[in-house]
Amino acid sequence: MIPGKIELLAPANNLKILKYAVNYGADAVYAGGKKFNLRSIHGNFTLDELREGASYAHKKGARLYLALNSILFEDDIREIAAYIKKLKKIDIDAIIVSDPGVFALVRKIWPAIGLHLSTQVNTTNSLAASFWYDAGAKRINIAREISFEDLKKISAAAPGQIEVFVHGALCISYSGRCMLSKYMAGRDANLGRCAHSCRWRYYLMEEERPNLFYPIQQTREGTFIYNSRDLCLLPKLSLISDLGVDSIKIEGRMKTENYVSVVTWAYRRALDFIYEKKFNEQNIGYLLGELDKCSHRNFTLGFMFLKGRQELEDNENVGYIKKYTFIGTYEGFNRNYNGPLIKVKNQFHKGVEIDILQPKKDPVLFRADKILDGAGKELACANPNDKVILPGLGKLDDYSIFRVKSV
Ligand code: SF4
Repeated sequence: MIPGKIELLAPANNLKILKYAVNYGADAVYAGGKKFNLRSIHGNFTLDELREGASYAHKKGARLYLALNSILFEDDIREIAAYIKKLKKIDIDAIIVSDPGVFALVRKIWPAIGLHLSTQVNTTNSLAASFWYDAGAKRINIAREISFEDLKKISAAAPGQIEVFVHGALCISYSGRCMLSKYMAGRDANLGRCAHSCRWRYYLMEEERPNLFYPIQQTREGTFIYNSRDLCLLPKLSLISDLGVDSIKIEGRMKTENYVSVVTWAYRRALDFIYEKKFNEQNIGYLLGELDKCSHRNFTLGFMFLKGRQELEDNENVGYIKKYTFIGTYEGFNRNYNGPLIKVKNQFHKGVEIDILQPKKDPVLFRADKILDGAGKELACANPNDKVILPGLGKLDDYSIFRVKSV
């Protein structure tokens, strides 16, 4: 880590997304293995993929952390011990844990590896932080539920590294310590299988009238008392940076390469603006506009800058705001047609204006007057899984992503 510079820590659900995160400016990436982490439904890394991911990250000057932070039961102990022994042969940079038993086990099996304390531990004060540093933690992810004043006090007292979540989904409970999903859907959030039941619509039912559901009207769309907004601390980033925290973390190990790229790009630019002393209203507004191009729920400054609980809960749109559609990724350059080859994710039509984001650059617009298939035949529209060429656009950077405004 460069002294005085904050680490930008991005999520990756697979090897491909890890590469996007690193190219869009992440200093470090966190990922899960096939078991024992809190995003256990899709994706995650095999041991070989972790090896390849670590090597790729290191070549680009970034680091890879592995989350081993699910709740553990007696039957898991033997398996997790064997897994940690296998991890020892892979050049990852730290392990993220929550269970004190796993913490102790990693210390015993692999004393040299850095131990980061997961958000699941809910570290909310400097006494708890001291306890974990004394026990050997290198870094603590401070609970999202504390105030900025408390973060200041904890950072000032911390003898080790501090990591803070700055962007992404929030829980209505203390970060994942919640049984709602297990009760409603049989999926345990504490084992990485949350069904996000807190974001569902709920009705009132009287016990004698089992099929009569009464709407509870909080807003015109319904009532979402459990449904938190998404955290976005970008406007407050210079305050957080002034505290000397070591790492800012983006939530989202279930997210696409589009989401991870856009959010990582925006926070990378925000940090650069801070270092260049250009973190002003205009640039903050510009970056928030860019963050608006990937789907999210209404933003909040979270508990850290809470003006009243209402701000967290008053989520008038239960669903996601989706102003742009992610239409594809850059797969290479076609010299014959002087244009990029795009792997299509979502349908788009001839004539649309395409918004292109490249790592380390500002987005540019291009009108797709022609779309060609691989053989050079003109198409009226491009469909998912097609590989198409946009003639005349020229060469783009690897890992470019393509979006169009949603209608
Ligand atoms: S149901 Fe909601 S509050 Fe509970 S763990 Fe899942 S996201 Fe968090």
